[in-house]
Amino acid sequence: MPLGMVILGRQGSGKGTQAVKIAESLGVIHISTGDMLRAAFAEGTELGLEAKSIMDAGDLVPDTVINGIVEERLLKDDVKQGGFLLDGFPRTVGQAEALLSYAENDLCLALNLDVSIDEVMTRMLARGRDDDTAEAITRRLELYETETAPLLSWFTERGILKVVDGNGTETEVFGRLMEVIEEILGK
Ligand code: ADP
Repeated sequence: MPLGMVILGRQGSGKGTQAVKIAESLGVIHISTGDMLRAAFAEGTELGLEAKSIMDAGDLVPDTVINGIVEERLLKDDVKQGGFLLDGFPRTVGQAEALLSYAENDLCLALNLDVSIDEVMTRMLARGRDDDTAEAITRRLELYETETAPLLSWFTERGILKVVDGNGTETEVFGRLMEVIEEILGK
């Protein structure tokens, strides 16, 4: 059975960086919805152009749109064989429900990379991506609290949430994440 995992955490928590390292180490496919949307914009597709203004404002792309993109990706052979680590999805309860309908049997772990609001603010302002303006950051963090934070109890109820302290160096955090993953896989 392929291994299915998701990584949650506030914007700027370092989940993208860690997701790449985890996926490499386990040989699963890293699926970042933010990267997919940015790639769509770079290619100039209709989806990419529509998503760009939403992303720049720090808003969420509608569930119907993003769910479709993720479902299509999960159906590809590489994911079916190698398993997946989703990064940036799900971000709403509607997305989480959609994910369960696509991959319930494979989903075994939801990692929450925990970093305080003050710390992620500082990190994002230093990062300087197109959508890292003070306004868009504030909006993303607001949406995180209202839309995404409820997923923590949602995954807890399903018995698959593990919280990992995201403060410290990249290596320290990676070590903590791998420890949790290995514990789950060893079961
Ligand atoms: P960050 O975690 O810093 O917000 P991401 O690369 O994950 O960075 O996402 C950037 C933007 O892409 C989001 O602000 C949002 O507009 C859009 N996006 C990414 N994933 C989703 C999703 N699952 N649902 C809705 N919008 C999304």
